[in-house]
Amino acid sequence: MLLEHDTLQNFIFDNHPVRGEIVRLDNTFQTIINQHYYPPVIRQLLAEALLAVSLLYGISKHEGKLTLQFQGTGALSLLSVRCTHDYHLRGVVECSEGISTVDSLAEALGNGTLLLTYEPEGQGQRYQSVVEVKGNSVAKAIEDYFAQSEQLATRIILAADEKSAVGFMLQQLPSDFEKEESWNHVLTLAESLTTKEMLSVDNHTLLHRLYHQEQVRVFTPHALQFGCSCSIYRMENAIIGLGKEEALKILEERDSIEVTCEFCNHHYEFDRVDVEGLFKVDSQRPGSETKH
Ligand SMILES: [Zn+2]
Repeated sequence: MLLEHDTLQNFIFDNHPVRGEIVRLDNTFQTIINQHYYPPVIRQLLAEALLAVSLLYGISKHEGKLTLQFQGTGALSLLSVRCTHDYHLRGVVECSEGISTVDSLAEALGNGTLLLTYEPEGQGQRYQSVVEVKGNSVAKAIEDYFAQSEQLATRIILAADEKSAVGFMLQQLPSDFEKEESWNHVLTLAESLTTKEMLSVDNHTLLHRLYHQEQVRVFTPHALQFGCSCSIYRMENAIIGLGKEEALKILEERDSIEVTCEFCNHHYEFDRVDVEGLFKVDSQRPGSETKH
């Protein structure tokens, strides 16, 4: 079978209280990874974070968008990824030059935290959770989050090369019946997965190889793609957020205010006429967030 490019597929076991997911990122991964120059360690971490946010969103009860932010005191100060309700992904990294000499998440972050934010599309409660990053991988950080916040045993296996990134996740479901035995059985079989196998074998074959003696039910995959929610309107609001005085001060030194979206590199430019116009109509604009 052909590889399921840029998809997220959920599955469950009929005979074990365990659910799973497989996510594959190809063009989506390439688009995001090539928006800026990133050293190899960052390409790898960004790939893993994009897989993680997709996997988390794929089992989420929340609608809206999910953002994962790894924040650190080391050379990697921010690794931020987001998945929206229509499975649009984006990601960005802030790091200093010292990043090229590190080779793990823990080393890159120093003292690190993982911040998860669910934002509803319309009305509804924003949900935020922070965990300390203790492990040495993105997968471990997410596993720790589930263990701490939801007391659910979770296993995440991530693989990436230059072209693609693939994530595999298993999670225990609440059940009284042979819970531990089932979990250990399903998990042990998954531990045999290799990076090469994950990147080159389609979902159906992969699941058959691991679980041919089990009854696995797969669901229709979701398509994933790169998507940025920046707009001229949001950028205008960012300028309004500066205040008229500050905005005009910038224009004393240059002809225009230039803003480039850090996620998609789209370039926005506002000259004096635009800026003065913005503050004239500002009173009529409905409130809106000033950043992404
Ligand atoms: Zn953008």
